Amino acid sequence: MDLTLAILKPDCVRRKLTGKAIDFIESKGFKTLCMKKVKLDRPQAEAFYAVHKSKNFFNDLILFMTSGPCIPMVLQKEEAVTEFREIIGATDPKKAKEGTLRKLYADNVQENIIHGSDSMENAKKEIAFFFPLTEIIS
Ligand code: UDP
Ligand code: MG
Repeated sequence: MDLTLAILKPDCVRRKLTGKAIDFIESKGFKTLCMKKVKLDRPQAEAFYAVHKSKNFFNDLILFMTSGPCIPMVLQKEEAVTEFREIIGATDPKKAKEGTLRKLYADNVQENIIHGSDSMENAKKEIAFFFPLTEIIS
């Protein structure tokens, strides 16, 4: 079955929405294969979001992602990548569909509580960024 990488972002942890977010994800049929709480430093956050380096929101995004602990997790489901993007909703919660995680809980386009990989290729890279193969329970 397919895997994707999710991150409960620092706003999610700070606002004590961790339990609600995990409950929502599990209720949609995802299995949590791995999770841990980490605090990213600047080089790590910059490496993770390297694809956005040229964007005007990059520096603020890095400050946000390093502002407190976050919880990366490996999720498993059929079509995990597209299914997960579907249940989290659009990047900007104002544009997210009703019933999606970001519509339910996110504050704004930056503090949108959760990350989800956008392709199977990126999911593989992002999982490897946080979890050595030995930590992945299959
Ligand atoms: N972001 C932001 N301003 C924007 C677009 C994105 O602060 O105008 C932040 C937001 O936290 C988002 C992350 O940068 O989740 C990565 O952006 P991307 O376009 O990859 O959105 P995602 O894949 O998370 O929906
Ligand atoms: Mg993205």
